[in-house]
Order: sequence, then structure tokens, then C-alpha cells
Amino acid sequence: MTGTRDGERDGVGRRRAETESAPEAQSAPETEQAAETERAPGVVARINATHFPVTVLGPGRRLGVWFQGCPLACAGCMSRHTWDPEGGREVTVAHLLGLWRRALAAGADGLTVSGGEPLTQPAALAALLAGAAGERDEAPADLLVYTGYTEGELAADPAREAAVRDADALITGRYVAARPTDLAWRGSANQRLLPRTPLGAARYAPHRERRAAGRTLQAAPRDDDALALIGVPRPGQLAALEARLRAAGTALTRPSWRAE
Ligand code: SF4
Repeated sequence: MTGTRDGERDGVGRRRAETESAPEAQSAPETEQAAETERAPGVVARINATHFPVTVLGPGRRLGVWFQGCPLACAGCMSRHTWDPEGGREVTVAHLLGLWRRALAAGADGLTVSGGEPLTQPAALAALLAGAAGERDEAPADLLVYTGYTEGELAADPAREAAVRDADALITGRYVAARPTDLAWRGSANQRLLPRTPLGAARYAPHRERRAAGRTLQAAPRDDDALALIGVPRPGQLAALEARLRAAGTALTRPSWRAE
């Protein structure tokens, strides 16, 4: 998972960035008046962000949902702002499903759930995935979940395994900075892309060994006057981005990939 953040431009507006398995932006098809759904009555999720369309975390144009809270503390994580389990904001899963319906109506190819660690909220994750699977009808929209847990850790915990039951594909494993990779949608070479359904196999099998090409990050404004960086940066890409911004007179403050 990932994320990053923060910058200050010309001493005026604060800008934040988030990335990878990561972050959000609120240009999403979001509204607090999203229709309630009977699929997940009363289930609440603590999230960091949502964004649509996400184009760098899975195939096509996707709704991104970043859960808040991660206890895994990978060294080099670029989404440190998603670690605090009391951070972010609470929303109902029904609200998230409203965003999903709107994304589908806009032609979304899938849903990507990241964080943070989505499995710290197994009930909310299970409800979101079950509801999203039910809403897509015949649309070939897949459900992808990033988790820092390994396949073995999921299999050893029935609650975690149940939470991802409706996922079409998983990207598993901690971020390990010492194992850089250019594998598509993964931050380190240990992370595995695991299709779990026929749709997941059709969508993701061609990408399991594919090297990332083209754009791997996208930027989007957040509703808190911050800037979100979404995606999985290539090795050295964030440092290069900071250097280029600095050379252009823009200094980042509190980027989410560094400790305060
Ligand atoms: S699993 Fe690791 S990389 Fe992902 S959000 Fe948690 S600490 Fe960061």
C-alpha cells in the first residue's frame, strides 16, 4: 500500500500527496447524499479517501477506496498518513456502495480497495466487497484488494479469509524497500498478484509477470486543499519528483512517505 503526501507551494496552499496501494482524492463520484442500500445496513468503515477514476491501480478506470489504519508499519511505506486507526473519517458502507454505483454508471472497470490495511476492518471490507459484487450485475467490473498480509497469513485467519471472499484478485504482502520491482501495480518484488475468480483470472493473469510501462502515478486534488499522488512509484521516482519540484521552487512539507 502506499501513499505519500504533502507539500507547500510558494508558502501558500498546502498540498498533500498520497500514493499506491494507496490514497485518494475527492473528485470522486461522491456525495454525502448517496443512496442507502439494503446490502450493508449500518456497517461503517473508517477510510482515508476515495477517488474516481483511478487509472494506475489495476486495469482500466476504477473507483479507489483507501481504508484508514495499518499496524504493519513497513519501512519505507509511502502512506504513513493511513496508519493511524483513529485518523481518516467514518462513512457507511452504504455510502461507498453509492459511489460504486455511480462509478459503474460512468463506465468503471473495477474497484480497488487499498489503505492503510483493509483487513483491519474485516466486517466493513466484507460488506463492501459483497455489496459491490452484487451491484455490478453483469458488468465485467472486477474487485481488487491490496493487503499487506501474505497469502499464508490470510489462510491462517478465517476472519481475514472471509473478508476477502468476494475479491476477484488480491495483491498481497508487505512493502519491502530492499526488494524493488517494476512488476505492474506492485511496490516490491515479494508482493504477489493473486487472481481468485474466473473474472480475476481473465483480468489479472496477463499482468502477473508484466513489467509496469507508461504512467504509474496520477495526481488528484483532495477536498482538504491537499494533493494526492495515486499509484505505485517506480524505485527512486518520489525522490526524483521532489528534486524536480524543488528545482522549480516548490518545497514539499510533511510528505507521507517520511516520518514527521
Ligand atoms: S501494509 Fe505496509 S506499505 Fe501498506 S499501508 Fe501498511 S505499512 Fe504501508
